Amino acid sequence: FNVPAIKNEPVKSYLPGSPERIELKKALEEARSKVIEIPQYIGNKEIFSQNKHAISPPHDHQHVLGYFHEGTGEDVKNAIGAALEAKENWATMRWEQRASIFLKAAELIAGPYRAEINAATMLGQSKNAYQAEIDSACELIDFLRLNVNFMRDIYEQQPESSDGVWNRMEYRPLEGFVFAITPFNFTAISGNLPAAPALMGNVVLWKPAFTQVYSAHVIMKVFKKAGLPDGVINMILTDGPVAGEIIFKHADFAGIHFTGSTRVFQTIWKTIGENIPVYKSFPRIVGETGGKDFVLAHKSADAKAVATGLIRGAFEYQGQKCSAASRAYIPSNLWEEIKEFMIKDLAEITMGGVEDFSNFVNAVIDEKSFDKITSYIEKAKESDVTEIISGGNYDKSKGYFVEPTIIRAFQPDYVTLCEEIFGPVLTVYVYEEDKFEDIIPVIDSTSPYALTGAVFATDRYAIQYATDHLVNAAGNFYINDKPTGAVVGQQPFGGARASGTNDKAGSVLNLLRWVSPRAIKETL
Ligand code: NAP
Repeated sequence: FNVPAIKNEPVKSYLPGSPERIELKKALEEARSKVIEIPQYIGNKEIFSQNKHAISPPHDHQHVLGYFHEGTGEDVKNAIGAALEAKENWATMRWEQRASIFLKAAELIAGPYRAEINAATMLGQSKNAYQAEIDSACELIDFLRLNVNFMRDIYEQQPESSDGVWNRMEYRPLEGFVFAITPFNFTAISGNLPAAPALMGNVVLWKPAFTQVYSAHVIMKVFKKAGLPDGVINMILTDGPVAGEIIFKHADFAGIHFTGSTRVFQTIWKTIGENIPVYKSFPRIVGETGGKDFVLAHKSADAKAVATGLIRGAFEYQGQKCSAASRAYIPSNLWEEIKEFMIKDLAEITMGGVEDFSNFVNAVIDEKSFDKITSYIEKAKESDVTEIISGGNYDKSKGYFVEPTIIRAFQPDYVTLCEEIFGPVLTVYVYEEDKFEDIIPVIDSTSPYALTGAVFATDRYAIQYATDHLVNAAGNFYINDKPTGAVVGQQPFGGARASGTNDKAGSVLNLLRWVSPRAIKETL
């Protein structure tokens, strides 16, 4: 069970004049200067269709980077056929062979494809160079590499044997195929969701979000280049409900690996439930969904650390992280100081296209998101229980730009303290500094989600109290740090309640969902 020593991929700095910056700039220019056609990948075929859709940078929506070719129900049926055809050889391939393919994919992203995948993430999803590097390079590489360690840990788990009896566990893949549905906001998640079940010997249909097809296409190219056999991962570009209508009624549907909104996951789960009699096996249902992530500061906290944690936690990648800090509970003694720090920091932040590396804030993903986010801002401007502390402006003439916005709400159940907005909007509630213990049940009860949360304090009693009394409010809990930025293998990620099944992406727990173990007893 020896695998190469595997550790987290170091993040490159992209400092002016650095070789990685020069290479990335070149990749960006190249991507902007051509128009690419993105097909579906089904079995050994690349499928082009008449139903093409333009792909544009969210920060420059009149520029066309290329077109993706939408698929049909027929394509989905063909993809199921291709997956099932590939299944036997893939499932019986020795684990080292499967592992080598994904380790090779990681090497390709770490080296020759790094600039291309980062440029695709920057342009297609409006993510700045630093955020793209953390996501589409490092996190994706970490998933691909560290999953091999977790796989080894699983296979090494063997039962005790006794005199004359040899007991063994066989970690078989699921019987049938897995459906991976991925969100727009993380290229790494998009790659990991099909790759993790495939590593464990499963065959997969993968539907990326239509707003992330540009970088998904690079991932598919890398998998092919790394030697992934045809049909093991099939990238379909059929509309979600159309694909679901076929997949969730198929007898060989064996599992769903989903990341996206709570609403869509609820619909999927319901459909699976309705079709239970159709399936050969009870399907594995793994879903990581929405968040309304909190930062709680205690009166003993360091004001500057809280302010920095909020600015980075709430506004990096325009707040479009499931883990983004979107509600903050600040004690009255620290509010003025934290407010000042945040306003000062925001004054130095610039917003614009990703091509200018100095822009901290870029555009939100599309017009639908823009409209949703700005409607919350408008409501807050009109409300008499809120005050706009900073920002509040937006403009979609060139790109979908929303200024980082801080709202102060005077009621703890105000809508922006409860609902997921998924944009650069932070709502603050200021509580009386001696009411720390009273604010905790408010945090726990005003939102249905339980993904990430943070407490800032220097008082150990307060840290322990918050940790113990917010035990079910977050699957990832941070002490004196922002609630974003989980690193694969260091902080396994996932939430409970309306935030998902908490199967911790990038861990043994996740990979265990993609095997159907067989216990073998042999009498010697
Ligand atoms: P989304 O709108 O739910 O879409 C997710 C995926 O589901 C997309 O591929 C989408 O395809 C597909 N889809 C939509 N309706 C479907 C249906 N009826 N049947 C099958 N598939 C369907 O989410 P998003 O806007 O891409 O991503 C943002 C959400 O993801 C946020 O709620 C965020 O909190 C969550 N998220 C959670 C985590 C986590 O780890 N907990 C991580 C990242 C994101 P189309 O794009 O074609 O509609």
